[in-house]
Amino acid sequence: MIVIDKNKLTDLLDALNQSYQVIVPAKSADLTQFMPYDAVKEKNAEIILNENTVLSPKWLFLPQSEGMYAFWAKNKKLEIVDLPSDLEKMRIVFPVRHCDVQGIACLDKVFLDERHVDGQYLEKREKTVVMALMCNNPKDSCFCASMGVDRAHANNTVADVQVYDLGSEYAFEALSDKGQQAVEAIKALGSEKTVAVPEVKEQKIKVNIEGLPEKLSGMFYDSIWDSFMFKCIGCGTCAFICPTCYCFDINNKIRGEEGVKLRTWDSCMFDEYMLMAGGHNPRPGKKERVRNRFLHKLEYFYENYQMMLCTGCGRCLRKCPMNVDIVKFINQANAK
Ligand code: SF4
Ligand code: SF4
Repeated sequence: MIVIDKNKLTDLLDALNQSYQVIVPAKSADLTQFMPYDAVKEKNAEIILNENTVLSPKWLFLPQSEGMYAFWAKNKKLEIVDLPSDLEKMRIVFPVRHCDVQGIACLDKVFLDERHVDGQYLEKREKTVVMALMCNNPKDSCFCASMGVDRAHANNTVADVQVYDLGSEYAFEALSDKGQQAVEAIKALGSEKTVAVPEVKEQKIKVNIEGLPEKLSGMFYDSIWDSFMFKCIGCGTCAFICPTCYCFDINNKIRGEEGVKLRTWDSCMFDEYMLMAGGHNPRPGKKERVRNRFLHKLEYFYENYQMMLCTGCGRCLRKCPMNVDIVKFINQANAK
């Protein structure tokens, strides 16, 4: 592994920035999120390495609003035009915690499904090097270990480089060809060493998900939903900050004879999300919407892809204004 002193962080980012667009977690306008390193420098924002960000790196692969194609309608003729790629060069994200690496693995299942590969998503994944950081300072609200996230080794279907926090140094281990090239770009800043994988601290929250999808499959009409629905105000915060929620709406932005087809984040917690032509809504109330959110995360996704659509990142526990708590839900469901 290549071991580099943490004091050389700026040198490391500058070295990567020569060949890649570097994306880092940073705090800007009181919000922690993943930002281009150039913007961080321009805004004098603070790079945040010691805690998980409020906004996940999901937007790097599924932007909040993204053009799908442009169209022209002239003289009763319609022409569809591909939009140019907005990725001029390879990107590198450093560092991504293991829960968020798992979040990208969930998105991969959906957007790189062999039945339909989403070209725009694929391009962003192929042009991004993910440097996963082993996280040794979980928040009290984190429970990724319970959700099957390996805290010592990131999901290697996503992580290109595994980074270990050794206290005053980082150790970099390439996991893919893309990752090897990135490590080559910084290797002059450190030295080659053999290091032991550090111990990970226990997380305070532990939940049991063994047999949970099977159990939930028989709880569609259970009274548990009545207690959870009351609190939710349908603000959609949970979906927007969640690294795995991927629902989007598709609409047109039209000016004169030309327009762009856009896909934009949506949330199943909004009452209009399932509204159909003619006014029918299969999920008319909060109960149906909260139930769908939890069952999608903990039952349906597992049935389709054998993994939970919750990484235990804890963001919704920290940010839901009404304390609708997925951990409490899992514990109550287990107790039934
Ligand atoms: S669960 Fe919480 S964050 Fe999500 S929509 Fe309801 S109130 Fe908002
Ligand atoms: S449901 Fe909550 S804890 Fe689970 S991945 Fe989404 S934001 Fe994180």
